[in-house]
Amino acid sequence: MTQIYDRVALIGLGLIASSMFWAIKRSGLAGEVTGYARSEATRDTARRIGLCDRVCDTAKEAVEGADLVVLCVPVGAMGAVAADIASALKPGATVTDVGSVKRHVIQAVSPHIPEGVHFIPAHPLAGTEHSGPDSGFAELFDNRWCLLVPVEGSDPDAIARLRALWEGMGSNVDEMDADHHDLVLAVTSHAPHLIAYTMVGVADDLRRVTDSEVIKYSAAGFRDFTRIAASDPTMWRDVFLTNKDATLEILGRFTEELFALQRAIRTGDGEHLFDYFTRTRAIRRGIIDAGQDTDAPDFGRGKANP
Ligand code: NAP
Repeated sequence: MTQIYDRVALIGLGLIASSMFWAIKRSGLAGEVTGYARSEATRDTARRIGLCDRVCDTAKEAVEGADLVVLCVPVGAMGAVAADIASALKPGATVTDVGSVKRHVIQAVSPHIPEGVHFIPAHPLAGTEHSGPDSGFAELFDNRWCLLVPVEGSDPDAIARLRALWEGMGSNVDEMDADHHDLVLAVTSHAPHLIAYTMVGVADDLRRVTDSEVIKYSAAGFRDFTRIAASDPTMWRDVFLTNKDATLEILGRFTEELFALQRAIRTGDGEHLFDYFTRTRAIRRGIIDAGQDTDAPDFGRGKANP
C-alpha cells in the first residue's frame, strides 16, 4: 500500500491509538508515527513494546512537523489536549479524533484549531472491552465502519486523504453529520452499554441471594452483558456526559418498550411477546447479513467488536 502521510502523531496511547499504530505499520501508511500519553507508565510501556516509532515526553513535541494529528483520549479530555498542542501544529496539517461522541468534540476542539490547519472529526466503530497501550491489534478496524464527520468548510483533499488512511487500515468509510452520528450511536452503542451496566449492577446486587450462582451459571446472555460492562469507566462516563440529549431520548423510548413488555408478561399476552421477539430476530439477521457480526456461537467475539 502507498504511504499517505509522512508523519502521524497519536495523542493518547490506548486501545484505539495502539491499534491504529499497528494497522498503519501493517500497510506502510505513514513514514513515521510519533506518540504521546500523559502518564510516564504508559509512555514506558509504549517504548518497551515498540508502540510508535518515537514516544515523546510532551504532546507538543509529538505533534511538531506532523501531517496528521489523531486525538485518541477520552471525549471529555479532547478540548484540553487540543488547547495544549495548538501552538505546535504545522500549517496545512490535519487534526482528527476518534471520540465516540461528535457534537461535543467539535465544540470543544474547534476553537483551538489555528487558521490553516484542517479539523476532520472521525469515529471508528470498532473496539473491545480492553484498554491501554498493550490492548491494540492491527486487525481491529478490518471490515468495520469508520465515520468521518467533516465540519463546515472542511477541505475535500484533506477529507480524501483521511478517508484513504482509514481504508488503508481496513475500514469501510462513510460521512455523517455530527447530530445524526450522536443519535445513531446512542441507539447502537451508548444505550446498549448503559443497559449492560445496569443488568450487571442488578446481578451484583442480587449476589447475596444467589451466592456465586450468577457467575457459575452465567449463560451467554449475561456473559455478553458482563463483557460490555467491563469497558473503560472513564471513556463511558464521558460518553454519557457528552451525548446527554440523544442517550436520554433513546433511554426514554427504551423504558416505554420495557414497560409494554412488562405488562405483556403480567397479563399473559403471549402474542405481544412472540411478535416482538420475531421482529427483533429479523434485526439480528440483518446485522449478520450486513457482515457486521457472525453466526458463530461466540458471535465472532474472539477479537474485535464494534
Ligand atoms: P484507552 O485505552 O483507555 O486509552 C486512553 C488514552 O487517553 C490513554 O493513553 C490515557 O492516558 C489518555 N487519557 C485518559 N484521560 C486523559 C486526560 N484527561 N487527558 C489526557 N489524556 C488522557 O481508551 P481508548 O479505548 O483507546 O479510547 C480513546 C478514544 O477512542 C475515546 O475518545 C473513545 O471514546 C474512543 N473510542 C473508543 C472505542 C472503544 O471501544 N474503546 C471505540 C471507538 C472509539 P494514560 O495511559 O496516560 O492514562
